[in-house]
Amino acid sequence: MLEIRNLHARIAEDGTEIIRGLNLTVKAGEVAAIMGPNGSGKSTLSYILAGRDDYEVTEGDILYNGESILELDPSERAAKGIFLAFQYPMEIPGVATMEFLKVALNSQRKARGEEPLKIPEFLSRVKTAASSLDMDIGMLKRPLNVGFSGGEKKRAEILQMKLLEPKLCVLDETDSGLDIDALKIVADGVNALRSPDRAVIVITHYQRLLDYIVPDSVHVLYKGQVIKSGDKDLALRLEENGYANIIGEAA
Ligand code: ADP
Ligand code: MG
Ligand code: MG
Repeated sequence: MLEIRNLHARIAEDGTEIIRGLNLTVKAGEVAAIMGPNGSGKSTLSYILAGRDDYEVTEGDILYNGESILELDPSERAAKGIFLAFQYPMEIPGVATMEFLKVALNSQRKARGEEPLKIPEFLSRVKTAASSLDMDIGMLKRPLNVGFSGGEKKRAEILQMKLLEPKLCVLDETDSGLDIDALKIVADGVNALRSPDRAVIVITHYQRLLDYIVPDSVHVLYKGQVIKSGDKDLALRLEENGYANIIGEAA
């Protein structure tokens, strides 16, 4: 489903190369974990997959279902089913979460050449998704993420994901602490998304998250390259020994 070949990418503004010859293959049905020390380029990789224009690809390619997506803008990628959690991390005062979800869903439909959803159909989908997450529908009247707890933000993120029904999901669980409740919300959400025609990439440096989401593959990113790939046992080894051994082996 996803094949990243010898990817090199730099920050558009100042030309600093962050991704330096990265190779990664993720098959449909797979849950892949990307781990690595702080500053190794994990978040940058997710932004590049989403198509953010702050980064320039200088070499290599990203193939999605066999076709390069490098020339596609973020909305075209979203229309093809690529979803980056925290694509909309910002708090949006004045816009109810419900309204935000409607815009997100309908702009995806528009990019696919589909009509906007009728309001009753939209509401019924939101209600179904929200109740599957034990989410109070009243919360959706509040502005997105404004004053949400860590757990509520995670629920809102998984809710977006459920509604958009992506094929390739990238979740960047950034350095900010996930408490155990938030961790479980993310894990349950990801596990519910597992399906033979969908791939999930979970970026984390918490081994703990991988106790709940058992990945099919684990890849260690360091200085903009995948320096080691393995199965779930690789994450356990990292937990025990840290990154130093693997970085040493790769060097
Ligand atoms: P990780 O998610 O693995 O912690 P990041 O992708 O956030 O790593 O960052 C990788 C490196 O790139 C860091 O040194 C970071 O400071 C730098 N970096 C990423 N994006 C930018 C940017 N837009 N401007 C300046 N530096 C950046
Ligand atoms: Mg970081
Ligand atoms: Mg990061």
